Amino acid sequence: MICPQCSENRVHRSRRKGFVEQFVLSAAGVYPYRCSSCKNRFMKRRDPSQSARRSLWSDPPPWLSALLWGIVAVAIALVIVGVVAQRASLK
Ligand SMILES: [Zn+2]
Repeated sequence: MICPQCSENRVHRSRRKGFVEQFVLSAAGVYPYRCSSCKNRFMKRRDPSQSARRSLWSDPPPWLSALLWGIVAVAIALVIVGVVAQRASLK
């Protein structure tokens, strides 16, 4: 997280103040932040990419999707081989 005022990477979560921040913005996923450098306070929506668990399923890394598709392809191949072998043994 980078401060929009001074572009320093010294931003931390600030405490919510008042009804709007506690309930309205919280429901919208917006959080207050404060910059340690310039003391600027600003509101920002939490970056979904910061949540590792959520980003893994909504946007999996290439190796993971390749692995999953590899497993699916092997499973389909095993089913086809199994059906063919069963038919061959029935003859
Ligand atoms: Zn700042």
